[in-house]
Amino acid sequence: MSFPENGDRQSFCIQFRHNVLHNSSSFLGRTPSGSLVPEERDIAFMRIALELARSAEQAGEVPVGAIVVKDGEVIGRGFNAPISRNDPSAHAEMQALRDAAQFLENYRLIGCELFVTLEPCVMCVGALFHARIARVVFGARDPKTGACGSVLDLFSEPRLNHHATVTAGVLAEECGQVLSNFFAARRAQQRNEN
Ligand SMILES: [Zn+2]
Repeated sequence: MSFPENGDRQSFCIQFRHNVLHNSSSFLGRTPSGSLVPEERDIAFMRIALELARSAEQAGEVPVGAIVVKDGEVIGRGFNAPISRNDPSAHAEMQALRDAAQFLENYRLIGCELFVTLEPCVMCVGALFHARIARVVFGARDPKTGACGSVLDLFSEPRLNHHATVTAGVLAEECGQVLSNFFAARRAQQRNEN
């Protein structure tokens, strides 16, 4: 992977205790001084994913961005790039999973969280299961292909073996706005060309 943003992986390290990531439910309701409350933490990470969505937009791709976080550190980044990569699987989540797996040198991303600006599709949820991602946080819902409750809800399917938890709607408005702006601009451009 050679995203321009990948150069300084270590630079993103939001102050957060190591053990909180592994047992985030015990953290809910507690706000140790100096730490971010869970909601603020999710928002801070989603903002990084949003920046990556903007990178996708600049490349002419549908603006979706994703990161993988382990122990409070961003270890994988991705943005939607199927057109530029001639790759139908190059969704933001897949790119971020690949980046994180290369970083860890392990296809299993144990104890990791994935933040993505748009509700993951069936393919990406499948990859999240295979990677053993512990927690998924997404922004806007995708009524057309969302597989976390909008079209399907693979996370609540008991026949699928996984242990991930899902948090929906973090910065949903901003994440959705980036997409609507993109499609509005594209429609306007198409009108001008006709
Ligand atoms: Zn996807």
